[in-house]
Amino acid sequence: MTPERATEKRLIEIIRRAAARGPGVRVGIGDDCAVLEPDPGGLLLATTDLLIEDVHFRRRWAEPADLGWKSLAVNLSDIAAMGGRPRWALVALACPEATSVEEAEAFFEGALALASEHAVAVVGGDTSASPRGWIVNVTLLGEAPRAPVLRSTARSGDVIAVTGSLGRAAAGLALLERGAAPAGIPADTLADLTAAHLRPQPRIGEGRWLAAAGAVTAMIDLSDGLATDLGHIAEESSIGARVGLDRVPVDAGTRAVAPALGCDALAWATGGGEDYELLLTCEPGAFARLADGLLAATGTRLTAIGEMVPAADGVRYTDAGGREVAVGPGFEHFVTGRARG
Ligand SMILES: [Mg+2]
Repeated sequence: MTPERATEKRLIEIIRRAAARGPGVRVGIGDDCAVLEPDPGGLLLATTDLLIEDVHFRRRWAEPADLGWKSLAVNLSDIAAMGGRPRWALVALACPEATSVEEAEAFFEGALALASEHAVAVVGGDTSASPRGWIVNVTLLGEAPRAPVLRSTARSGDVIAVTGSLGRAAAGLALLERGAAPAGIPADTLADLTAAHLRPQPRIGEGRWLAAAGAVTAMIDLSDGLATDLGHIAEESSIGARVGLDRVPVDAGTRAVAPALGCDALAWATGGGEDYELLLTCEPGAFARLADGLLAATGTRLTAIGEMVPAADGVRYTDAGGREVAVGPGFEHFVTGRARG
């Protein structure tokens, strides 16, 4: 039996089923606009992100449910980077005419699985046939704490710190692109790394805790890689940065896979991108309190990797011996190398 085609009418039915009424939703899907009610006096956060087949992912290794998950995850990560609470999503999908109803449903199921983890309601969307490949656009609205954490407010002398470990998503991408698994790497390590790329876990709880803890002076999520995203903080804050590469957290699985693929784990960690960890700066005297508190509250490690320095010193990376090391730019996509927000 040939699978049923996902016509526009069928896709709209699927979106309507996916769309939920939730707190703060006066009118959900079905009218010209959703009508939403933020908390009184709250600040609204708005972000959007595009995922395009063969620019950001390949259908060869990304299932529709993975695309649904990731399209929401990358937007959630931007809300996390402000210390915000995600609330409402609009999901637009264009897919080739041959796409089946099952594939379209799987896409929305993937998105909804992550949305429900973070109490996000899908309040609208749009669909279209695509002449070539899948195109996904999610717009996410959230609410900010009293003082959302910006990129532009780091100060010289602040500690630079990062959540979790870096390079896992790049390791996962290298494994997915290669296809066959390298010999000698445990299956659970391979699964963990490919999941880091396909189904990143946005640091929502961590971002909210850090923003509420005080002493965090600037924050950004690591979408393009440490080198590029730290560059954004330095540029927006008009100061320099010094990072000790020996201090950058790289997990054992990433370190094991890199030589098996002829790659450099540290290059993945500094330039790989798509880890969706949080990169922050904080008052130097507050780092230990933040690291201990974050671990206790969320189970996530916070690692100090350097400090902000005067603008005249620029952004520099050093090895364990204090020698300066050139670090490449962040993640380049398959086709365009476009930077992600
Ligand atoms: Mg971002």
